[in-house]
Amino acid sequence: MVLPFQTLPDSKLPLVGTTIFTVMTAEARKHGAINLSQGFPDFDPEPELLAALARIITQPVHQYAPMAGLPRLREWIAAHHRHHYAAAYDPESEITVTSGGTEALYAAITAFVGAGDEVICFDPSYDVYVPAVELQGGKAIRIPMHSPQFSFDWDAVASALSPRTKLLLLNNPHNPTGRVFTKADLQALRQLAARHPFLILADEVYEHMVFDGRTHLSMAADPDLQSRSLVVGSFGKNLHITGWKVGWCVAPAPLTTEFRKVHQYLTFSTATPLQEALVSYLEPCGEAALSGLAAFYQQKRDRLANLLSGSRLRRIPSAGTYFELYDYSAISDLNDREFCLKLVRENGVAAIPVSVFYADSIDSRIIRLCFAKSDTTLVQAAERLSVL
Ligand code: PMP
Ligand code: GLN
Repeated sequence: MVLPFQTLPDSKLPLVGTTIFTVMTAEARKHGAINLSQGFPDFDPEPELLAALARIITQPVHQYAPMAGLPRLREWIAAHHRHHYAAAYDPESEITVTSGGTEALYAAITAFVGAGDEVICFDPSYDVYVPAVELQGGKAIRIPMHSPQFSFDWDAVASALSPRTKLLLLNNPHNPTGRVFTKADLQALRQLAARHPFLILADEVYEHMVFDGRTHLSMAADPDLQSRSLVVGSFGKNLHITGWKVGWCVAPAPLTTEFRKVHQYLTFSTATPLQEALVSYLEPCGEAALSGLAAFYQQKRDRLANLLSGSRLRRIPSAGTYFELYDYSAISDLNDREFCLKLVRENGVAAIPVSVFYADSIDSRIIRLCFAKSDTTLVQAAERLSVL
């Protein structure tokens, strides 16, 4: 269609194209490849959850839900935080159900970041963060994590703090590196917080995918940091339902008040039948719904790693999330984007090039593989990757 203007209005995101997840999933479909790129399970959620949805859908659940979310779902989220983090959040004033973690992140950034404000985040950074900050006129200060340790560099954060720093955007467990916070990370963060009034936006959507006996160190669990944090979670990750797009944001009441001012105009509320189905499923089983998740995904991580142990891909072990990084420098000199395009077209496996998550596209010849897949998928993918 031809536009009725000579020139387009200026783009608000001139450097942004289509997300790598969309691009690689489309490539996977086009080439009939196994999709280990975009993070989503290729297996079904629990039958009881699907039964709850089927039961609910014939009930009168088809009008707007309350703006902050169904009260009973907020009660469950409150109990979840009490159980795991000994954290007290008031469902009435401190918990908001959102349309996925993505909406929660966007609403939080919109609520608190204004023109000229600085937001510190770690690269490789999840693709939502920087555009959301820039759309508010803010500036992302991106601290690189370097291969192969990918540690969080708190000295660099300390140097980056300025009177304009509004927010620290922390993703723990970290996508795509699989790093998780240690006690030393928390200690360093506490020390910074003691001398600077930044807010924390904690993207903890992978909270229950933490491996090898580690504990998830949530901002919600830390009395010093909780009071300045908005913590984001996702039922999509916890219950293998990424397509439902239901998540939450928990934060002290004054922060939640501001958060809801944006949420109410962004989506107003989240799909009622999905919230009802979650309540119906989660209330009887409580936390048991999530209790096996870490062991389940650890087994999948290890299965893929074992299957690839004879290959020329070198594993960079993941401590959390459902992703693991693999170094392919023994296989190819191509940059990671070209390598992934070749891989999907010629070898039938889709992966994510890690350089796309860096401000300056640092390319360390590393790809991200998603292991949230059936064992059959993992075996087939590994067969194709082992001949490289
Ligand atoms: N943060 C990170 C780090 C993610 O990987 C994802 C996955 N999509 C999200 C947030 C968004 O979660 P949701 O699918 O619930 O919007
Ligand atoms: N979080 C998912 C990933 O990292 C992708 C979600 C999306 O496609 N936006 O793969």
